[in-house]
Amino acid sequence: VTAALGGDGGPVVLGLDVGGTQIRAAAILPSGERRGRRSGATPVADGPEAVYSACADLLGGVVEYLAPVDRARVVAIGISCAGPVNPWRGQVLDPPNVPPLHNAFLAGQLEARLDLPAYLERDTNVAALGEHWLGAARGCRDFMYVTVSTGLGGAVYADGRLLLGPDGTAGEIGHVTLLEGGPRCGCGGVGHLEAISSGSGLAGQARDCIVSTTAGVSISPFLAEREAVAPLTGRDVAEGELAGDSICTALMARARRAFAIACVGWVNTFNPERIVIGGTVAQRQGERWLEPARAEIAATGLRSPSARVQIVAAELGEDVGLVGAWPLVAERHGDPMWRAQRPAG
Ligand SMILES: [Zn+2]
Repeated sequence: VTAALGGDGGPVVLGLDVGGTQIRAAAILPSGERRGRRSGATPVADGPEAVYSACADLLGGVVEYLAPVDRARVVAIGISCAGPVNPWRGQVLDPPNVPPLHNAFLAGQLEARLDLPAYLERDTNVAALGEHWLGAARGCRDFMYVTVSTGLGGAVYADGRLLLGPDGTAGEIGHVTLLEGGPRCGCGGVGHLEAISSGSGLAGQARDCIVSTTAGVSISPFLAEREAVAPLTGRDVAEGELAGDSICTALMARARRAFAIACVGWVNTFNPERIVIGGTVAQRQGERWLEPARAEIAATGLRSPSARVQIVAAELGEDVGLVGAWPLVAERHGDPMWRAQRPAG
């Protein structure tokens, strides 16, 4: 990828990462260095115009920050956004965490406001490109990127490129049923991996565990105490386990177990060289989260792919969506396929 756009002195990309709570922006140099990084709150309570304006203001600030020599080298905008998205239309579809962007043509809107070509991709796919370029998946022709955070998502990079599918939704690995009759998922499904193992899934299961509906008594004093202070999060459940709370311990054990079982399925299905695991939940858990996956793969996976695969932590942290904007643009800029389905005007 680096060869396609040249080395130092090559093109500069404006990276934009639109999430449910924050929007981040920075200029990304061919070295991967970020310049003019800034962020702001996502105006989720307002309409789409407010989000477009917030994005354009941040990007405008980045451009102003750049030295003239770098500003002259800016070629395009690479946008990472909570999915699902249609990358060819530059359209965000129905993101549960960013309601104002429902069906929004985000790429086209920012092209018009910044007067630069813009390329949109799902956050997990952009993160995979970032980890492939400068992080834990360097040199891999076949790998998966998985994030365990508020949600649980991922990307499949196979035979040297992202697997997209005709709707761009391939790699939405959090929405497979791991437990029939299990907890309800944010997508409406039941027993999905995301509902069991993600931060929001853990929080939802924890809420169900505070009070026994039949007896009306608190069955997790730890969670009841936390909930009296603030709405429960996945972090509360993880900390409850460390504090010895039996409900939290059971929920965390099941979350790791479901994740480990899902990993075996991915190894058998996609034969990845590596599974790169990021996201705040997995990062805080560290080896505690990765080791059960390795053990389950070794015990139950198909022999050849299980012997090959490495389960590793992501390396790029919270700026992965900004860093990944550079290889996203490097891969797509100048190829008319990526802008041919944009709405006119
Ligand atoms: Zn789901």
